[in-house]
Amino acid sequence: MTIFCAMTAQRGRKSKLSKIKLLDRHLIDKIAAGEVVERPASVVKELLENAIDAGSTYLEIEIRNGGIDYIQVSDNGAGIEEGDLVMAFARHATSKLETEDDLLSIESMGFRGEALSSIAAVSQVELHSNAGDGGHCIRVEGGQMVSCQAAPVPPGTTVIVRNLFYNTPARRKFLKSSVTEGNHVYDTVVRLALTHPEISFCFRNEHRQVFMTSGNGDLWEVALAIFGRDFSRRLLDVQLQYGDIMVSGLIGRPDLTRKNRKGQIFAVNSRVVRNPMLSASLEDAYRGMLLSQERPVGIIFLTIPPEQVDVNVHPQKTEVRFSDEKTVYMALKTAVRQELLKIANPDTAGERYPHHEQTSEVGTSFSSPHITHSNDYRAQPVVSGDLLLFDAPDDGTPSIKVYGQWQDSYLICEIDGDLGIIDQHAAHERLLYNHLKENSAERLSQELAVPVAVELPPDLLMLVESRRESLAELGYHLDKLGERTVVVRSMPTITVGGEVEALIEILDAWRDQLPAGEAVLDSGLKILACKGAVKAGQRLEEREITELIGRWVVTENRNFCPHGRPVCYTINRTEMDRLLKR
Ligand code: ADP
Ligand code: MG
Repeated sequence: MTIFCAMTAQRGRKSKLSKIKLLDRHLIDKIAAGEVVERPASVVKELLENAIDAGSTYLEIEIRNGGIDYIQVSDNGAGIEEGDLVMAFARHATSKLETEDDLLSIESMGFRGEALSSIAAVSQVELHSNAGDGGHCIRVEGGQMVSCQAAPVPPGTTVIVRNLFYNTPARRKFLKSSVTEGNHVYDTVVRLALTHPEISFCFRNEHRQVFMTSGNGDLWEVALAIFGRDFSRRLLDVQLQYGDIMVSGLIGRPDLTRKNRKGQIFAVNSRVVRNPMLSASLEDAYRGMLLSQERPVGIIFLTIPPEQVDVNVHPQKTEVRFSDEKTVYMALKTAVRQELLKIANPDTAGERYPHHEQTSEVGTSFSSPHITHSNDYRAQPVVSGDLLLFDAPDDGTPSIKVYGQWQDSYLICEIDGDLGIIDQHAAHERLLYNHLKENSAERLSQELAVPVAVELPPDLLMLVESRRESLAELGYHLDKLGERTVVVRSMPTITVGGEVEALIEILDAWRDQLPAGEAVLDSGLKILACKGAVKAGQRLEEREITELIGRWVVTENRNFCPHGRPVCYTINRTEMDRLLKR
């Protein structure tokens, strides 16, 4: 029945396809606009790239209602001469590419000549520019020029884009809330500001300054201006010449991680690109240092001879192809790994980077108060020789013998006669998660004798107010102090030493989520449990192993960590005999 209906519907539609006509120019522009302009953030990206191409040293960005109603980008660059104003809005009009050969070595951000025409096709644009000829203003709405006249303005260019998608309601419907669109704009400005430390960026949202970078060329200062001290002091310099590839930038220490790849910014020949191979290479360099769901942070610049890179893959120009992927992969991985190994060996780290304050914070210690001081688990350990034994209470709890720790990461045991290999991090994570749920995280919160000040990036700072209740439920009580800082008055006791990272990670996870009660709280609990748990690679004392296993063996859902990964691998005698062909 359904199939029949679908077929008739299709036949009915077919008659519409019979005549082939050329599309009119405005329609072509609107379709092309769809490829370049997806949302306010794409407009901001194109306008900023134009301003950067124009040699600007100072850029101002202002948005209202997430950029949907209003976007303004002002620069102090070369400007557009009166005679070129109309041409700048024509499709495929560009001053940056002349011959086909130029396509092979693109050094400007723009080159397709599509942005201004695409933006103007779906909004109301006003462009003021002064290329040293006094200044002019052109207005274009829905692709039609409304006016073009002399108007004195300072040198440079200002573009104002109003009412995005006002004439394409179908596209406007796809826009998300102004907060989400504003976050996308923020991400875009941040990416460009970080990849252009030599340019000063000033970003305002609803008339309030979000951040301003100095433009003095120091990448670390840009990171400081945008993300604040607590983030920036965990960054390390990277620099390596690898054949004809130059790798430079900043990477996060292994204790600065995200749950997604948003903290990974790559610029190839100064162009921000997205490329899974680059992320894979960066992550490969951290192998063994992070948990499986943790993603490293990095702002990486790759300078590669232009003829080895193709950026003309997609209209948004964020995709990139390399003629020699393998070498690029190795260059990045080697550069990053080399720095990480230096901090693993503290003798050689630190002094090279005097502006990076060394932190005394170490990974979360195992001795979370509620574990060391608590004896409320039922399986009581009996220590016999080198073996730790847990006598099973007769309620189905397995009996466990612990033989020891392997590679500071796994606990090797006998569980009800089978050989068991327990992932110490996953087991502890499950324990802490259950503990937080059962006792309500808020009750486990501890007031700090000396409140801690934490600098947060502006997008996360916003959440401190809007998610105040959820934060309190997790045990975080904090107040905003000034433009960049929060004061933490109490926090969950579970994250000894890791409370700031946990807070940032929780806010980061919440940033793009809708306010859905349970799920929001649960994602926070998982992060707390993860941060509070012992890590792989951490040597445990016998006493700690005893407590961990003793508590784990009686905890609910013990075979899976809160993220659903298995905690324990077991193999029985028969399987082992078969494996060894006995
Ligand atoms: P593209 O950047 O690919 O050349 P655009 O449509 O973005 O195409 O811009 C068209 C042309 O308008 C550019 O080539 C440049 O000459 C001019 N232009 C646009 N924005 C600016 C600006 N902010 N300053 C100076 N020139 C600009
Ligand atoms: Mg452009």
